[in-house]
Amino acid sequence: MEPKLAQLLAGVRARSGNVLALTGAGISAESGIPTFRGAEGYWVVGSRNYMPQEMATNEMFQRAPDEVWRWYLYRFGVCKDARPNAGHAALVDLERALGDRFTLVTQNIDGLHRRAGSTRVFCIHGDAAYVRCADECGLGVVDLPPGLVPRGDGQLAPAEREALRCPRCKGWLRPHVLWFDEYYDEEHYRMESALRAAGAADLLLVVGTSGATNLPMQIGQLAYRRGAALVDVNPEENPFAEMASFSRNGFFARGSACERLPEIVRALGAA
Ligand SMILES: [Zn+2]
Repeated sequence: MEPKLAQLLAGVRARSGNVLALTGAGISAESGIPTFRGAEGYWVVGSRNYMPQEMATNEMFQRAPDEVWRWYLYRFGVCKDARPNAGHAALVDLERALGDRFTLVTQNIDGLHRRAGSTRVFCIHGDAAYVRCADECGLGVVDLPPGLVPRGDGQLAPAEREALRCPRCKGWLRPHVLWFDEYYDEEHYRMESALRAAGAADLLLVVGTSGATNLPMQIGQLAYRRGAALVDVNPEENPFAEMASFSRNGFFARGSACERLPEIVRALGAA
């Protein structure tokens, strides 16, 4: 490990500081889950290719709920087949070592942190394992109905349409995920809780995120302004790497989550 990084982590450990880990698509990519932001996220409806930024919207869901559901069921199928990796496992070890001094904020909806064993997780973009009523009838957040299979072609089967009905008001259920034309909130996406954790962090550990969305950048800036230690784990340059290199207390740990996280969490006191 680079001496500056070792020194920075030793300082956090000596102070018994709070650690906030912020993870993005990069950690899931190592489990084989594509980001769905580029070409792999295209979806064909009729004769037109739709971008993920068009599919993952409330506007599209209002217009074509069947298509949006078929796209999500396909994506969820990919998530279900993926397995947590050494990066996810390292963050579980860190949670066990730090207890309530540790918080994990993830942009990923794939549930891999949960399946790896992390429990102190705020899913700020939602979680594919859950659904809620599209009409907000008061159903709350419930499990994705079982038995739904991703279909590459055709339409939802009648039984699938039935399974995707709200048991309370009979309207559509929707995926419990944040869409591009929606806002972060506390009730569904734990926005205030995530910002509170950022305000109390002695170390912000950013892993595999490009900072393309608003709340992660706010978390980074909050930690930066407070002078918290800032470590960015990423194989590529990104806005958090830049922030870390400007910070007196920052370090850009170039590499993937699987490569870098195990030694980082050991330096923070995990077994
Ligand atoms: Zn309902």
